[in-house]
Amino acid sequence: MRKIYMDNSATTRVSARAYERTAEVLRDSYGNPSSIYGEARDAKIILEEARSQVASVLNSRPEEIYFTGSGTEADNWAIRSAFEKNGRKGHLITTAIEHHAVLHTCEYLEKQGCDVTYLPVEEDGIISLDKLQDSIRPDTFLITIMYANNEVGTIQPVAEIAAVAREHKILFHTDAVQAFGKIPIDVKELGVDMLSVSAHKIHGPKGVGCLYVRKGVNLPPFLLGGAQERKKRAGTENLASIAGFGVAAVESMENRQEKNRKLKEMTDYLVERVLREIPYTRLNGDQEKRIPGNVNFSFQFVEGESLLLLLENQGVMASSGSACTSGSLDPSHVLLAMGLPHEIAHGSLRISLDSEENNMEDVRHLADVLPGIISRLRDMSPLYEDHLKGCQTGE
Ligand code: PLP
Repeated sequence: MRKIYMDNSATTRVSARAYERTAEVLRDSYGNPSSIYGEARDAKIILEEARSQVASVLNSRPEEIYFTGSGTEADNWAIRSAFEKNGRKGHLITTAIEHHAVLHTCEYLEKQGCDVTYLPVEEDGIISLDKLQDSIRPDTFLITIMYANNEVGTIQPVAEIAAVAREHKILFHTDAVQAFGKIPIDVKELGVDMLSVSAHKIHGPKGVGCLYVRKGVNLPPFLLGGAQERKKRAGTENLASIAGFGVAAVESMENRQEKNRKLKEMTDYLVERVLREIPYTRLNGDQEKRIPGNVNFSFQFVEGESLLLLLENQGVMASSGSACTSGSLDPSHVLLAMGLPHEIAHGSLRISLDSEENNMEDVRHLADVLPGIISRLRDMSPLYEDHLKGCQTGE
């Protein structure tokens, strides 16, 4: 049976060009970029070329890009070092729907004496700017709000949030792991102070990411040791993966409009068929303000894990909630924050399509098999049975 990968928000296949570059550097360029002889100078050139490539996609200066070991590390660094910079005291604002890389870091800082506001989101998954304004205190030192959500794909008003932060002289960090490479991001235009990115979400290698830190924001270092990354993030650089990341970053924005048009065509088709053919279904998150390729449904009277297993039997790999919460039986904190009741949040399905990985035939296959799977699961559900009885007796 053909395997159809529809979980591109969890991770992506490494592109041919990123793979070739990574393998080439791994094989041929073993120099340590910090040394001074020829081999090392070549390694340093490779490192700086990748930095310029990533910077070009964000419209930043190359020296504002600091390579990290993941998006998670970039998030940890931004938030923990901002707390450090503020004298390990004060108040920060985030949202209830962040990735755990941000949420767990904020929870950790709370134990260290930091006050944290977890802003709620509206039903569409987007924060209210008024609520953000209202939550600002004289001791607020950081606002950290994600660019695009990893489960429902909704995009936050990042430029407006940055303007609010600037007006109050508060640092602003955004986790752009899901947005980078899918929609244009211009850090200068947005006015963000720090922004996290990860390579494996954009067809680059795993275990590499970066933090953009605006020139002038003197962020304390995250890892101590050598002088790598301008003494901010010690440790010999993962050169091969960084080189692959640079290539993947540039590649992600090539023909982006056309890629996004194709993604929209596929998601529109899927949404239309699923909502028309499967009763008691809702589409989660704002319909327009979302990253291309992401669709998140909730099927009432269905349990997400069982749904994934039956989908896999039909060759489809997808997820229920985020990659990090799958494996746990808790419903998604994102869907709960959007006001979904537990039992509906449990029956959610995230489909994340990619313009290279997927085509209309894949999407048609999913739309063809999904109604049968849902009715099979509902037939086994005592809740659905009670619901049907209720309908018959008019309760
Ligand atoms: N932030 C968001 C929004 C994500 O989706 C992810 C990955 O799922 C991360 C951070 C973590 O990135 P990484 O897997 O590179 O640690």
